[in-house]
Amino acid sequence: MDASKVRVDRSGIHATGCFAACDIRQGEKVIQYVGPKISKAESLRECEGGNVYIFTLNDEVDINGNVEWNPARYINHSCEANCESENDEDEIWIQAVRDIKAGEELTYNYGFDLDEYKDYPCLCGSTQCVGYMVAAEFFDHARKYRAEQRQLAAANPEAATV
Ligand SMILES: [Zn+2]
Repeated sequence: MDASKVRVDRSGIHATGCFAACDIRQGEKVIQYVGPKISKAESLRECEGGNVYIFTLNDEVDINGNVEWNPARYINHSCEANCESENDEDEIWIQAVRDIKAGEELTYNYGFDLDEYKDYPCLCGSTQCVGYMVAAEFFDHARKYRAEQRQLAAANPEAATV
């Protein structure tokens, strides 16, 4: 595994993050998301047990990225990410979507869908932040939801959750 393009360090977004160890070009593969392949049944048990490092690989198996030898698990979500995850012949690669300078924190969109995202508030700090870790195609949905939540909170401060 080639982890030389990244280093793990304290993150400004959340806890630990991954940072570019060198300049990276747009389109370049940065790091592979690795871990044991597990069945869908095992995957479900892991997710229910709070393992947030499960990555869908294909219709049969998922990857359990919650292992020491997978530094990619530290890459944070961002609404304005500089990387994306790509499934390249059943390998998950984190790939640069723009040129990245050495020292920049690496991010990709975790791509949560409408069923999941409300459980995952986003603190990425980007000016484009929609408030939740949601796939880009649902950004408008998340913005509306956040606006509704804020209105509710303003109308009923004691019950506020956001
Ligand atoms: Zn965000």
